[in-house]
Amino acid sequence: MKFQLLPSTFDENGAASERQHLSCFVIDDTVAIDAGSLATATSNVQKKQIRDVVLTHAHLDHIAGLPLFIDDLFAVLDAPVFVYGTSEVIETLERDIFNWEIYPRFSELENDNGSVMKYRPFKAGEEFSAKHLRLMPIAVNHKVPTIGFVVSDGKTTLALSGDTAEMDGFWQVVNGEKNLSVLLVECAFPNELEELANVSHHLTPKLLQKELKKFNHQHCSIYVINIKPMYREEVVRQINELEIENLQILEVGQIYEW
Ligand SMILES: [Zn+2]
Repeated sequence: MKFQLLPSTFDENGAASERQHLSCFVIDDTVAIDAGSLATATSNVQKKQIRDVVLTHAHLDHIAGLPLFIDDLFAVLDAPVFVYGTSEVIETLERDIFNWEIYPRFSELENDNGSVMKYRPFKAGEEFSAKHLRLMPIAVNHKVPTIGFVVSDGKTTLALSGDTAEMDGFWQVVNGEKNLSVLLVECAFPNELEELANVSHHLTPKLLQKELKKFNHQHCSIYVINIKPMYREEVVRQINELEIENLQILEVGQIYEW
């Protein structure tokens, strides 16, 4: 399985910055999980191939690229972009984004080839497919309804927490997976901002350490995602200080083969 966290921003030399402002994970250049930088950071191959976009939740940093991605491709799409989300996420998108004011309601628009965007609703606990992938959605603990996933291509299985604070249901499902290769888990804020992490339903390195005690796959690779860019250095330092085996930071832009 090929896996990439797309870059969000540029450094002073114009190269992709290591800071993650937006969330958009691309699997095998064909399926996106979240759409933060979907419009601006996808390669030409990814633009051509990605027609399945799976959303964890409707916060802006996870959906910002979706309207622009469909807009860019509007004239050339020969099949709709399928947007997978819970009913809460789809309702938010229709009410607050694709509402004819912020952006056109693409779910009602067609080009010469037909529909340009279609929703594929899913429910927590009910497995579904997107292209060659099977996804098990699991409700996690964030400020708005949010989903984490177990994703499998039949060979490799990974678990992705999405944005979350402490949780139990996610760990139960993930611990029940026989062959888990990779865990991707959020850690948004440094330890000093635990209060902010609590009110915004995110984790700090200290809280993450507590969460990982619930994780049973001892030799599984663990990657930290969704670090708030302003606090990246501090969070990375504090994560390294935990000295947890197999725990590392997911590098922005890097292509992983799992
Ligand atoms: Zn969020």
